[in-house]
Amino acid sequence: MNQNQHFILDGKALSRKIQNHLKEKIAEFDPKIGRPPGLAVLMVGDNPASAVYVRNKEKACQRIGMASFGKHLPANITQAALAAEISALNQDSNVDGILIQLPLPNHLDAVTLLHQIDPDKDADGLHPLNLGKLVRSEPGLRSCTPAGVIKLLEEYDIPLEGKKAVVIGRSILVGKPLALMLLEKNATVTMAHSRTHNLAEVCQEADILVAAVGKPELVTGSMVKPGAVVIDVGINRIKDQEGNSRLVGDVEFDSVSQIASYITTVPGGVGPMTVAMLLSNTYWSYCQKLTL
Ligand code: NAD
Repeated sequence: MNQNQHFILDGKALSRKIQNHLKEKIAEFDPKIGRPPGLAVLMVGDNPASAVYVRNKEKACQRIGMASFGKHLPANITQAALAAEISALNQDSNVDGILIQLPLPNHLDAVTLLHQIDPDKDADGLHPLNLGKLVRSEPGLRSCTPAGVIKLLEEYDIPLEGKKAVVIGRSILVGKPLALMLLEKNATVTMAHSRTHNLAEVCQEADILVAAVGKPELVTGSMVKPGAVVIDVGINRIKDQEGNSRLVGDVEFDSVSQIASYITTVPGGVGPMTVAMLLSNTYWSYCQKLTL
């Protein structure tokens, strides 16, 4: 593998750095305030991938001294019962961040439930009020994965102003908020999606290319401008010829790493940054309350 270390945007290392910083801040504030910040992750059912994500988030809380109020709820929970859980967490003064682990079972209406989270505790930054603040460039809780991408670019001093950025994928979770965040940084942003014509040509224009699609190795070397910065948000589990399962991104690492100036890996790139931003958001909400 042509994995030239200095070309890698190391999300795992930056996530650790952010977590160490938060740990120090929490150790300083906890004795003064009388409690640490608290994050509640609500998981419904037994989706194995979700269980791994939730465990990682809980472990990260433990590592930095953040209280974790996770709840594992049965797959057949009703909409009303889950809404009541959210309402209780909204009222709980020890809880600063609330996250509903998606996807939810089909009988639950995730959008309505996300709207019921107190916007000041919306650790995932997906409440319409927080998305609206992003549109207006007002301070507020930002969606974790796109915020993690921006943080990673900033850590490596990658210039964004005036640069052509192409974001592939327009989901409310990643693509749309990321396009807005890049715009906030004065990039010239193009959003590509499943109906985009000539995707390869659109991508070839990009100084910064972000893939958030969910299609294994969609972006290949021939689609990338020499020297571009390539960020791979995708997480796809595939089976190789021997039947072994492994994770790959939306970017074909071997061909693209030959051409890009900087690139992320999967795993170890954007994934750990999402967790770091979740903790940062919860800490931010905690600090907002302290100044009231
Ligand atoms: P989604 O399914 O909601 O959205 C996918 C987007 O890709 C859509 O907007 C669609 O228009 C676009 N798309 C689909 N096929 C396309 C094609 N052939 N060409 C161009 N665009 C196409 O997915 P999502 O929630 O945005 O997640 C995208 C990927 O990112 C998934 O692999 C997901 O697992 C991963 N993800 C990773 C993290 C992380 O922390 N690293 C967080 C969230 C999502």
